[in-house]
Parts: sequence; structure tokens; C-alpha cells
Amino acid sequence: MNLELSEEQAAVRRLAEEFVGREITPHVVEWDRSENVDKSIVKKLGALGFLGLTVDEEYGGSGGDHLAYCLVTEELGRGDSSVRGIVSVSLGLVTKTIASWGSEEQKRAWLPRLTSGDALGCFGLTEPGTGSDAGNLATKAVRDSASGDYVINGAKMFITNGTWADVVLLFARTNATPGHRGVSAFLVPTDTPGLTRRTIHGKLGLRGQATAELVLDDVRVPAGALLGPEGKGFSIAMSALAKGRMSVAAGCVGIAQAALDAAVAYAGEREQFGKSIAHYQLVQELISDISVDVDAARLLTWRVADLIDRGQEFATAASKAKLFASEAAVRSANNALQVFGGYGYIDEYPVGKLLRDARVMTLYEGTSQIQKLIIGRAETGVSAF
Ligand code: FAD
Repeated sequence: MNLELSEEQAAVRRLAEEFVGREITPHVVEWDRSENVDKSIVKKLGALGFLGLTVDEEYGGSGGDHLAYCLVTEELGRGDSSVRGIVSVSLGLVTKTIASWGSEEQKRAWLPRLTSGDALGCFGLTEPGTGSDAGNLATKAVRDSASGDYVINGAKMFITNGTWADVVLLFARTNATPGHRGVSAFLVPTDTPGLTRRTIHGKLGLRGQATAELVLDDVRVPAGALLGPEGKGFSIAMSALAKGRMSVAAGCVGIAQAALDAAVAYAGEREQFGKSIAHYQLVQELISDISVDVDAARLLTWRVADLIDRGQEFATAASKAKLFASEAAVRSANNALQVFGGYGYIDEYPVGKLLRDARVMTLYEGTSQIQKLIIGRAETGVSAF
């Protein structure tokens, strides 16, 4: 694994860094307070190719490798996790899944719109009654024998991009087989009659992000909306999440890096007992802990990118990266808040938001406990599920 960035990778990182400084940083506090990222950011992300990374140019993608994708998601995570999540979900979970599993017709219909930012995707797996145990989902898609259409009924919970999205990659049960074997994947345009969406307000963090509950009441889609073979939906969801975990991990590296930058700058400026607090060993310990977390999380994350780009098995490495980086992001933001003292506790300063945003990272795309079960299963050969 080569740790030196190529010219292309360094250029894409610079592009993302400039984008964050220009389009995100000036608005972060306002978007967080108003619970609303400016939606025009989607077209801007698309224009720079950030919604088409790793996708073939033939379908409007901007190419690049998975390390370039990590670099962009890290920079976006450093700027605002609400914006990073827009990319991780629409590109990482929806666009890339259509690119891997879609028919030619589905690729032509959706990929150019999704990669350009003309359309946004969301990922509908979690339900009010099933989170970690996603294979037990209750949403049903029943085939209408006369028309061949599927008629879908059910509800989805905590859906990132939910109220903004044009298409939902939806998982529903197509036969009575219990557990994950009866699950299929569908591409459902969000303007389909019977699909309603409600924004979830009052989140601890990611306040600017459009997280929603979806209700499906006799939503009718043609047979061509089925993504991949019938009954393969759970495998499709798990393959999407395995790659998605790399992108969450990269976003967490961004949070930890932002915590480090903020803590170092503040420690150099703030004076107590006649000198800057950077002079005190206990403050240096907080900063040193953040610094080690940043490096370790980044290396674990880059390893996943390297494995994917070399066509190697990466799922367990992705769980390790996601587990470590998400816990490291929470620790790092918390340590940075300590460096800021009381000023860390008010939202004019960045670290309180970093901690609020970091907190969800150990929960979504598989909680820390679920990542440990995946890693434990790989080590022992025994499944605890
Ligand atoms: P539960 O599964 O009920 O878990 C509760 C607790 O029990 C956790 O601590 C968990 O680790 C533990 N637990 C559960 N089972 C086990 C076990 N076998 N062994 C040990 N411990 C266990 N979902 C989507 O489909 N699409 C999205 O875009 C999306 N975005 C989200 C955005 C936000 C802001 C949030 C908060 C969630 C989002 N989710 C999304 C849902 C997220 O993936 C789930 O919340 C997560 O999978 C956990 O499910 P749950 O909340 O139902 O918790």
C-alpha cells in the first residue's frame, strides 16, 4: 500500500479543501441552527464531480479511485458532516449500488442524473421496528399478476436525504420466507403516488441534514423497478453498506482532524496562569490523544480503499475502520471540547457541533456493537447473529 498521494489524488483533495473553505465553512453555524443545509449545495457537489467519484465516465461519473473518494469525504466531514452524509448516501449507497447491480436501462435512467446532482438518492432499509436486525424488515412488495407491477406497503425510518431525494433504493419483502432471504431491492421515484415523507426534527447532531420517515401506502412500481434479482435485496444492501462504511470512516477522520486543528489553534491562543494553555502537559495529552486517533483512523480507512481498488476482500477491514474511526471521532471531539473549556460548550465555537455530529457515527450503517459482531465472526468463524 502506497501512502504517498498521486498527483490526481492530491489535486482532488485540494479541490475538496477549497470547496469546503468557500461553500461550507462560512455557513456551518447558520445551517446547524436553522436545521437546514442550503439545497443548492447538491448541484455544486455534482458540478465538481464529487457525486460521481469512482463511477464510469460513460454514465456521467468522474472516475477516480476509492482513495480519492476517501479524501473528498474526509474533507467534507472536516467541513460539515451534514454535507458529507449527502454524498456518502447518494453516491456511496445509491449511485454505486445501481452501477454494480443495475440493468443497462436502470444505469442509463439514473446514473447521469445522480452523478451530476440533478437528482439525489436515499437508502431505505431501516424501519420503525427493525434497525440492526434489518433482514427482518416488514415492508411488503406484492406482485400484481395482471399488470406485473409491484405494490409496496410499509414504512422506513431515519432516512438520510429522505425529503430531498428523487429516488429511494428501497428494500421490501417479496415473499413470505422469514428473514433476509425474502427481501428484494427496488428503485422507487419519490414522486410515486402513495409515497409520503416527513422530516424528523430535533436530532442531536447532523441538524442540517434532511432525515426523514417514509410511508408507503399502495405504492405501485413497474417490474423494471426491481434492482438485481428478486430475493437478493439483503445481499445488495449488505454489499452497499460494506463500501458505505469506508465513506463513514473517512467522514469520521475529517471530524477528528477538525477537532485536532481547532484544539491546537485554541491551545496556542488561550492564556491561563500567564501563558498559553498549550504549555500545560495535561492539555498536550488531550491533543496528543486526538493526533494518534486521527492517524490510526486514517490509516485503517485508506487500507479499505486500497483493498477495494486492488479487487481484494474488504468487508471486515471496512467494519474495523468504521468501528475505530467512529469511536475515535467521538473521543477526539470530546477531547477538543475539553481543551476549549466553557467556550467549547457554545455553538459559536466549532467543537460542540463536532461532538454532536460525531455521536451518530457509532450508530448508523451498523452500530459499534454490530461491527464487533462482524469482526468477531470473521475471526472465529462463529456467527452471533
Ligand atoms: P437497534 O437495532 O434497536 O439497537 C439498539 C441497541 O441495541 C444498539 O446499541 C445496538 O448496538 C444494540 N444491539 C442490537 N442488536 C444487537 C446484537 N445482536 N448484539 C449486541 N447489541 C445489539 N437507515 C437507513 O436505512 N438509511 C439511512 O439513510 C439512515 N440514516 C440514518 C441517519 C440518522 C441520523 C440515524 C440516527 C439513523 C439512520 N439510519 C438509516 C438508521 C440506522 O442505520 C439505525 O439507527 C441503526 O442501524 C441502528 O438501528 P436502531 O436505531 O433500530 O437500533
